[in-house]
Amino acid sequence: MLPPRLSRRSRRKAGQKAVLARQERARVKEEIASGEKFFFELFADERKSIKRMKLVDLLQSVPGIGRIRADLIMDRAEISSSRRIGGVGKRQLEILRQEFLLAKNSPRNGKLLVVSGPSGVGKSTLTNRLRDDDRFWISVSATTRSKRIGEKDGVDYHFVSDKEFDQMIEKNEFLEWANFAGAKYGTPRKAVDKALASGKNVVLEIELNGARQVRKNSKDAVLIFIEPPTWEELKSRLEKRGTESEDSTQTRLDRAKEELSAASEFDHVIVNHQVADSVAQLVSLAIR
Ligand code: 5GP
Repeated sequence: MLPPRLSRRSRRKAGQKAVLARQERARVKEEIASGEKFFFELFADERKSIKRMKLVDLLQSVPGIGRIRADLIMDRAEISSSRRIGGVGKRQLEILRQEFLLAKNSPRNGKLLVVSGPSGVGKSTLTNRLRDDDRFWISVSATTRSKRIGEKDGVDYHFVSDKEFDQMIEKNEFLEWANFAGAKYGTPRKAVDKALASGKNVVLEIELNGARQVRKNSKDAVLIFIEPPTWEELKSRLEKRGTESEDSTQTRLDRAKEELSAASEFDHVIVNHQVADSVAQLVSLAIR
């Protein structure tokens, strides 16, 4: 059966209602952000437009609670990310109050540092140097590519099958993920959230598309691009590395050109002349 056709007047009315609801929602977010309204007041608000707001969106408007903290609170309170204000039960509200208090009183989150740049530029060497510094936590990505000699599962990467990776995507377990040179790579969200909430500076060593996703979703992230001193040097490093097939080395070189032209999208650029200098620059960007 076809849905009943709305008259022009009803359509106009519905349109006006939707605009009004959007305005109400935007106003409430502003009131929460400015501290004019207290977050928990909204659960007693009878307006339909407010009841239909997503809890996670509203949480992010609270000063001091960004996207990552909001996700963490929802996760710990075991509330689904699609839950709307009107659907939060009494018991969930109580858990939310406790989590909320905990988050507001806990020490500040660490910084989310994204280290990106073309394959072969030396990103892993730089980030590995930060492993012994307990102000930092280096994220371990999941990947579908095969293990190289010397790499350890759970240390260099979580090596997973295509099927496992796809299941992780479906369950929304990645902060970001991307295809690179014929394999998939992704940052597991939970471990990152946990490390940030414990006050660590979290380092993601990821390629360009992943960095762009982080930029979109985490406004506070610091994006750092590592550049080679010259193109020739990058080429020779990649060729000498000898860990890839000829095909993969060529794919990586092609990708490197694309990545290099995106350096201006980043907050900072470090030219990797000397490892020690570059590491010092990285540290100073995190500890400011
Ligand atoms: P490799 O195969 O050389 O270890 O990594 C290939 C590329 O994937 C590198 O540029 C590396 O930074 C990037 N990469 C590693 N882990 C991740 C991840 O979790 N997400 C994304 N987007 N890129 C990653």
